[in-house]
Amino acid sequence: MTDWLVATVVGAVMETPTSRSLWLRIPGFPGAAAGQHIDIRLTAPDGYSASRSYSLSDVREGEIVEVSVEELADGEVSPFLVRDLEIGEQVEVTGPIGGHFVWSPEGAERRRPVQLIAGGSGIAPLMAMIRLREVSAPDTRFRLLYSVRTPADVYYRDEFAALRGRGRLSVDIFYTRVAPVDSQRPPGRITRDEVLATVLPPEQRPVVYLCGADEFVGTVADWLVAAGHPTTAIRIERYLAA
Ligand SMILES: Cc1cc2nc3c(=O)[nH]c(=O)nc-3n(C[C@H](O)[C@H](O)[C@H](O)COP(=O)(O)OP(=O)(O)OC[C@H]3O[C@@H](n4cnc5c(N)ncnc54)[C@H](O)[C@@H]3O)c2cc1C
Repeated sequence: MTDWLVATVVGAVMETPTSRSLWLRIPGFPGAAAGQHIDIRLTAPDGYSASRSYSLSDVREGEIVEVSVEELADGEVSPFLVRDLEIGEQVEVTGPIGGHFVWSPEGAERRRPVQLIAGGSGIAPLMAMIRLREVSAPDTRFRLLYSVRTPADVYYRDEFAALRGRGRLSVDIFYTRVAPVDSQRPPGRITRDEVLATVLPPEQRPVVYLCGADEFVGTVADWLVAAGHPTTAIRIERYLAA
């Protein structure tokens, strides 16, 4: 039987017009690794309940974690989390869940460079890795490729700007629908050549973390494997609908 813990919303911020980060305080939560997720369960007064998975976007604080939720306009759970849930209110959570899609600042892997690749809200668990690396393994090389629809859809914008400004993170953003006015590249889906020209090459032995919608993740993974990245070095998290 799944153990559910009561989580209280202790902070919230809109990341974009359609997404929101929530800080949850979860007494009894054992802590999580960067890359893991939790399930959040909502229960209506009549007893009807629904649960969905959400990656943790910050795991540094143990019992206080962050999730970042993209609203699907016709969805059941995400509009409530983005629009209605208020600070001080409670939800139930279980987790942490997931063992493969995890970056650890300890052990041999901390010496391997890391290539992060996100599509849309798939940036959330990668942000947990970026934040943990800043405090636990600042010498590990990280590079981020981030595909988003428009400039307004970029999560954690100020934090990325600060990391870039301090030379702490190389960030390559590709826009699929609207590009910034000063961009040389017209908007459009990222191509194979763009991915391969941007990511760390196989010779540098990066560990690749790839997260987002099913189609994006599958397509990019195929390109990486065909270009010589070993499948064992590619970790994947697919945001399948529940
Ligand atoms: C491991 C994991 C981690 C995740 N992490 C995140 C995260 O960090 N952030 C995030 O935003 N999301 C994340 N997700 C996705 C998240 O779990 C939800 O799937 C998402 O929020 C949508 O939930 P919803 O209840 O709003 O939509 P749902 O009600 O589940 O609907 C999802 C889509 O399916 C369609 N649909 C629903 N029912 C039917 C039906 N009967 N027939 C046809 N179509 C239907 C809806 O129209 C909608 O477009 C993650 C998923 C996984 C598996």
